[in-house]
Amino acid sequence: MRERIGKSVLVPTMGALHRGHLELIRVAREHAGKDGEVAVSIFVNPLQFEPGSDFEKYPRPEFADEKFCENAGVNLLFRPREMYFDDHSVYVEETRLSEGLCGAARPGHFRGVCTVVAKLFNLLAPNAAVFGEKDYQQLAIIRRMVRDLNFPIEIIGVPTVREADGLALSSRNQYLTAEERAAAPVLYRAMTRVKEMADRGENSVSKLIGAAKNLIASAKGARIDYISIVDRKNLQPLETLRPNALIALAVFIGKTRLIDNLRLT
Ligand code: AMP
Repeated sequence: MRERIGKSVLVPTMGALHRGHLELIRVAREHAGKDGEVAVSIFVNPLQFEPGSDFEKYPRPEFADEKFCENAGVNLLFRPREMYFDDHSVYVEETRLSEGLCGAARPGHFRGVCTVVAKLFNLLAPNAAVFGEKDYQQLAIIRRMVRDLNFPIEIIGVPTVREADGLALSSRNQYLTAEERAAAPVLYRAMTRVKEMADRGENSVSKLIGAAKNLIASAKGARIDYISIVDRKNLQPLETLRPNALIALAVFIGKTRLIDNLRLT
């Protein structure tokens, strides 16, 4: 066990830091206390990018990220060049919560996420780690990994930070052209439309998803990857709305795949 005066809280990221990450750092500081230590890791993890995705072109603004962390009062920036041996052959895989949503759309993605996060936990041995609810499935899977593998680490979730028009902040937003950026808030509009219908008593999931699909279909350049309404606890699809329902979606705007989610009940 390492001796520490305060708590150490880790914020794992892939860099290209924005206000969403800043909120995670703020929450990390709150939990660490003034004597504690906030660590940010930046690693564009090849293992979580499926073949043909944007690993090569993923933004890596190293200098700006370094300044960002400095200004945010981060105590430790961990930015490894490499995380894997050439002949690495051990992975961490969650097998239940990863089945649907992004797990179905991006085979191997969450195996890559769990493996790198487990390695970061072992290397940095934080007392707590902070993740965004924007990647709701990822947060649920990390909580499960920590529970099932007995990592002595508290997992803290942070609500999604959005632009004024509802678009969730994401490092991938910078891929969008001006026209695509104008279309992108349709994800949030579709989810809020569904929430309004749910609030008015509509509980047929097929009707709710149908309404979201129609709205998104009307946006130029938008192509739905998936839209699901699931139980927040086990991420299983629902047929009728009940407490703890969550809408989660992935939509291509042009070539850029955006994800988002919203609690419905
Ligand atoms: P990334 O660098 O995209 O891998 O994200 C690193 C962490 O920041 C993850 O835990 C994300 O869920 C979180 N995150 C990214 N965007 C947002 C956002 N708009 N609001 C809250 N958390 C976010």
